Amino acid sequence: MTNVSFVDQRPRNKTRAVQVGRITIGGGAPIAVQSMAATKTQDIEATVRQVQLIAAAGADLVRIAVDSRKDVDALAEVRARTRDLGIPLSVDLQENYRLAEFVAPHVDKIRYNPGHLYHHEREKSVREKVAFIADIAVQNDIALRVGVNCGSVDPVMAAKFEDDDVGAMVASALEHCAILDDLGFSRYIVSMKDSDWRKVVDGNRRFAEQRPDVPLHLGVTEAGMPPDGIIKTRIAFEQLIAQGIGDTIRVSLTVPFDDKGMEIAAGREIISDIAAGRFRSVPPNFGEGLNIISCPSCSRVENMKFIELAQELKQVTAYAQEHKITIAVMGCRVNGPGETDDADLGLWCGPAAVNLKRGEEELGAFPYETVLDRLKVELGTLIAAGR
Ligand code: SF4
Repeated sequence: MTNVSFVDQRPRNKTRAVQVGRITIGGGAPIAVQSMAATKTQDIEATVRQVQLIAAAGADLVRIAVDSRKDVDALAEVRARTRDLGIPLSVDLQENYRLAEFVAPHVDKIRYNPGHLYHHEREKSVREKVAFIADIAVQNDIALRVGVNCGSVDPVMAAKFEDDDVGAMVASALEHCAILDDLGFSRYIVSMKDSDWRKVVDGNRRFAEQRPDVPLHLGVTEAGMPPDGIIKTRIAFEQLIAQGIGDTIRVSLTVPFDDKGMEIAAGREIISDIAAGRFRSVPPNFGEGLNIISCPSCSRVENMKFIELAQELKQVTAYAQEHKITIAVMGCRVNGPGETDDADLGLWCGPAAVNLKRGEEELGAFPYETVLDRLKVELGTLIAAGR
């Protein structure tokens, strides 16, 4: 079976074909549309339902996060119970790259983040760790994704490129491609993501100039809530896909679990519009005022109140639309502190409280019920100061 097809008349970069379960990514195959389960992986019932829901929405691939051996056990069960759907599964590895060994038998693709790989087992070289993962992929006949995030590039690369964080992201991706090539492993895809669509466009263009052969997974991470999250993503995809760049996409939206199919619908609509030459204009001044960045949530989300919190945040800050202020809200303590670094006000969720920071200054943890009261005070102070 091939990818769910659509009218794709635009010229595409001649990337190599990478087989991921029943689908092909790259090599001229239709652009694959994917999403990620937002449920706790160990909540098997909820995760199975989430995979079914995303598959029913027409996804080509579903991703699941795995952080522990217990998550791996749950993954095996989820795979067994969704096998009849035939939909390929991919897993996001976080810090512990060694879990690849246990994850691989149950999936069609593994994504690792070079930034996280750098931090784990510092006594080993990056090449050794990549070789371990590539070897596991070969043994299990699966693909890999080198998933670089602009906000978590490995510190050596970040220091080398100083203020050019896009340059660091691209260099990190190229470095890992070179390692994999050198190991004789070619069944890989690359992604370079950020919450700023301009950086996504810039990074993917720079990379594609140097490695037009490598299939690219496109996404604006933490794009936020609809409609803004879809608009940000559309701007990036229109520029890249129209130029022939991009072999698979994910639209990351902060929406309730039951609405995750919206990511697939939005992705397909964007692709078919581009294929038909329908480029949408964006609202005037879009991106010039208040910018809310929010993650799409995943199995690491620490409290199910996160989605409500993000939606309420949008409502209570609506009055500040004209002000050039960025507020970031993230679902967990793993990525929350780093992913809020560039925001004027940042929130990230813990199990019982929400952490708040203004710029780089941490203001403390507040109950879910009252954190937005404090945020409004901080927002008012920024506006009074002329922002
Ligand atoms: S910030 Fe945390 S909860 Fe949100 S998508 Fe990233 S890892 Fe998942």
